Amino acid sequence: MIPVAFDYEVAESVDHALELLGQHGDEAKLLAGGHSLLPIMKLRLAAPALLVDLGRITDLNYVRDEGDHLAIGAMTRHTDVERNPIVQEHCGLLSYTASLVGDSQVRHRGTIGGSLAHADAASDLPSALMALDASFVVKGSSGERSVAVGDFFKDYLMSDLAEDEILTEVRVPKLSAGTGWSYQKFTRRLMDWAVVGVAAVVEKSNGSVGTARIGLTNMGSTPLRATAAESALSGADPGSVAEASNSADEGTSPSSDIAASDEYRRHLARVLTKRAVEEALSR
Ligand SMILES: Cc1cc2nc3c(=O)[nH]c(=O)nc-3n(C[C@H](O)[C@H](O)[C@H](O)COP(=O)(O)OP(=O)(O)OC[C@H]3O[C@@H](n4cnc5c(N)ncnc54)[C@H](O)[C@@H]3O)c2cc1C
Repeated sequence: MIPVAFDYEVAESVDHALELLGQHGDEAKLLAGGHSLLPIMKLRLAAPALLVDLGRITDLNYVRDEGDHLAIGAMTRHTDVERNPIVQEHCGLLSYTASLVGDSQVRHRGTIGGSLAHADAASDLPSALMALDASFVVKGSSGERSVAVGDFFKDYLMSDLAEDEILTEVRVPKLSAGTGWSYQKFTRRLMDWAVVGVAAVVEKSNGSVGTARIGLTNMGSTPLRATAAESALSGADPGSVAEASNSADEGTSPSSDIAASDEYRRHLARVLTKRAVEEALSR
């Protein structure tokens, strides 16, 4: 399990990292926490000639209150997202979901930007950010652009990022009073990856669902929104949440693997959506 030999450069700034990416093209890979990239390199599924380490760019490690949204730097570690008081106050769903990523060691090394750029549909933060309607700031040699979370994930381990671009910031709208949330993660063992996960953000209206945004983990090749269930849940009173959640797997294409069959994953999506919406309503 030894990776192919590679060169290593420490990026002093985002511009320096972009310069290195520009010089080395698809031979170079960015290194954040290394918790997804290094295992893949050890399995020789990736063999970059150069690793560009973002770890010393302290400018990419922050959480800022920007009025109607929070701005989170791409190199912010999962532990810091989990424990940050501003995230806890305004985006409890994100803080809680970050607390469920792997184990303590993974959370101390892994970064929010690395998790999103890796674009693994089994990861927890992407579906929470789908439910939170986040957007991402991406910087390349020709400037900066903003990408809505719904446009970011393209296919299995494929994002909208070009080879010469860096994800620099995650923008998360603050949750308003009267909005409940939940993340339901079903695992075979404590601290495992999700067999299926469901994130819910519910705007409440007189004890019923006003609107609901539902993000699904591990129900296809990308993180997904459960749009059919969202429509069915609109205006649902607590007594009809279970029935409305029955369409949570519509339009999904979960895989069958050693952890679960596709049929079981569909069942989990329906049950976990019901639990997530009920918890969001009670919060
Ligand atoms: C044992 C174990 C258990 C885990 N369990 C879970 C879990 O339960 N849930 C979960 O969600 N995740 C889990 N993870 C994954 C973990 O969250 C990783 O931290 C995360 O997927 C990748 O983040 P990273 O900072 O380590 O990125 P890296 O591994 O350094 O990079 C991943 C990819 O993203 C690219 N990249 C990194 N940063 C940027 C950037 N700013 N801009 C553009 N591209 C970039 C890299 O080039 C690479 O291709 C687990 C990992 C391990 C090792």
